[in-house]
Amino acid sequence: MSTYTIIDRQDEGSRILADKIRETLNSAGYREDTGVPDTVFVVGGDGTFLYAVHQYLEHLDHVRFYGIHTGTLGFFTDYRESELDAFLAAFLEGDVKESVYPLLQISDGRNLMYGLNEVRVENMTKTQVIDVYINGTFFETFRGTGLLVSTQLGSTAYSRSLGGAVIEEGLDVIQLCEVAGIHHIKYRSLGSPVILHGTAVIELRSGNYEGAVIGADSSVLSLNDTEVLTIRMSDRKVRMLKGRDVSYFRRLQSLF
Ligand code: NAP
Repeated sequence: MSTYTIIDRQDEGSRILADKIRETLNSAGYREDTGVPDTVFVVGGDGTFLYAVHQYLEHLDHVRFYGIHTGTLGFFTDYRESELDAFLAAFLEGDVKESVYPLLQISDGRNLMYGLNEVRVENMTKTQVIDVYINGTFFETFRGTGLLVSTQLGSTAYSRSLGGAVIEEGLDVIQLCEVAGIHHIKYRSLGSPVILHGTAVIELRSGNYEGAVIGADSSVLSLNDTEVLTIRMSDRKVRMLKGRDVSYFRRLQSLF
């Protein structure tokens, strides 16, 4: 018997929708399992979707995610609330395709964090100095608040607020953006976002990361005695179910 669980945004509208999904799935013979289910239904926004993925980080090989948005069209969801019947029919009839999205990883040598949108290092307490190496070659010395690396999927999130490019779905690239870089007569780094091959390995070296945090989507971790951060695409992948094709530009247009 196939199993499922539902993660909702915890507002009234999302809870009502979650109850309707539960009722339909139970009558169709599916069993609710909050352990490691086959499918995680996500009811809410892209933020809820990120939360759901982080709840199942250790079980991504098994779990698939299927989302419905209780707002506008999301980047991780293809259906709105008013399209619940079509959302459920596609699932129950097996008329869904699986799309796979790799997670970025950031490591400080001891801890490993995974990001579906992005990973980053930021320091709100002092100017952070970082030597940036790309694929083992020194690229530049950055001074400022921090650096962020986003996935294609995350290019419309924090990365976009930093002036990063929106990247069309399907491109196997990652994007490095500065967070409030200092650029004047004494100090200068590139300043513009850089789009790199998905295979790129970025090393961020600093003699002093005191006061800095590393982040992945909505999680953060304080750095202690760290000198090198390594960022690359990880082996972990998120499997998303899609009941229909929504053009990337239609999605973009509906949101911005
Ligand atoms: P959150 O409330 O879960 O998300 C913040 C906003 O970002 C929400 O409106 C969310 O959409 C939207 N969002 C998330 N992923 C997106 C994507 N791939 N494309 C377009 N919009 C997206 O906030 P959080 O838990 O602190 O952080 C989650 C994410 O928010 C982070 O991964 C980061 O990318 C983004 N964020 C952005 C900024 C910024 O732009 N200055 C600052 C902090 C965090 P929904 O309304 O559909 O949930």
